[in-house]
Amino acid sequence: MNGSTEPDRLHGLDEQLRQWTDAGLRRHLAARAGSQGPTIVLDGRPLVNFGANDYLGLAADERVIAAAVESVRHEGWGSGASPLVAGRSETHSAFETDLAEFKGTEAALIFASGYAANLGTISALTSQGDAIYSDEKNHASIIDGCRLSGSAVHVYPHRDVGRLNELLRESAQYRRRLIVTDGLFSMDGDLAPLPELAELARQYDCLLMVDEAHSTGVFGQHGRGVSEHFGMHDQVDVHLGTMSKALGSAGGFVCGRRTLVEWIAQRARSYVFSTAPPAAASAAALAALQIVRDEPHRRKELLTRSRMIRQAIVQQGWSVGQGEGPILPVYVGQAARAMELAGAMADRGLYVPGIRPPSVPEGESLLRISLCYGHTPAMVERLLAGLAELAW
Ligand code: PMP
Repeated sequence: MNGSTEPDRLHGLDEQLRQWTDAGLRRHLAARAGSQGPTIVLDGRPLVNFGANDYLGLAADERVIAAAVESVRHEGWGSGASPLVAGRSETHSAFETDLAEFKGTEAALIFASGYAANLGTISALTSQGDAIYSDEKNHASIIDGCRLSGSAVHVYPHRDVGRLNELLRESAQYRRRLIVTDGLFSMDGDLAPLPELAELARQYDCLLMVDEAHSTGVFGQHGRGVSEHFGMHDQVDVHLGTMSKALGSAGGFVCGRRTLVEWIAQRARSYVFSTAPPAAASAAALAALQIVRDEPHRRKELLTRSRMIRQAIVQQGWSVGQGEGPILPVYVGQAARAMELAGAMADRGLYVPGIRPPSVPEGESLLRISLCYGHTPAMVERLLAGLAELAW
């Protein structure tokens, strides 16, 4: 009851919210003033920002902004319809062509978000009678796509290709089989064992899908992602990703053979039944892709710095993930501890988000440090000094 004589239709939600608060699991909806960048103002508080996926510093790059503004002037803001009706603009089309060229694939298709891209792609490619093999640490949008597909889902322990091999051997009865993995894992910051996964896909005749959300623009000689980094690019059937991270824009994509992309455009419900994103998001992403091509030093420097900073944090005695890229997870265990440390960093003017269940399993809470090209040496010094003060 809510104090009146009417029954409370939201009965139980208040109590659950209170329990989450007590357990340190209730999320706070902060609001940022101004643009994304190495420094931000969050809930009115100026902070050095180690919580963004804007790895190459393009979200507020003048060239990217100019491209978006120009597009809005000419094409308006809203796209007004789904892509298969009248929502797909020439700018969307031009970006898909450019993205396919960049990724070295026959075709590309863009979605309103990376989440929608995973949901739509996985559920368009597999259904009842098919099987999916998914790393236990895959992103929530992959997990939800697997569930939606109605296929048999085999979850293998993180990066455990031995166990995956067994699962594949024991379950040959399905029509189509898909191995799906994050390229650069979003929370643990480590890389998928792509050479081994590609070999298993070949051996068992499976499709191989890699979500390059965090690695597009960051890894590989041309910035294509982790598959290029490992020289496995041609052995990946489904290249998934998002424009919302290193490309500093918004929206998701899938790239691959023309037949595959055409199939997804016909069948992915999150594509067919959702309004096309604003053309300006594609205009911005087109400009960002050109910067990725023209300024490889951004990703090279970022990766070099990431290695050095990871090393420095390990030397302070923290338990840091074994990755290679700009995502540095500092494992602290309990959710309350992660939030306490995040608060103490914020008191020092540093935004380092605490990550807790359900984003990570119980007992594996962490501080997630995201490094970006725009961080200055002085900002990194402050990060390291803050962590050093809190190390125990
Ligand atoms: N895949 C991975 C691995 C991600 O980390 C994310 C975003 N956190 C997504 C997909 C979804 O992308 P978007 O934010 O564009 O919806």
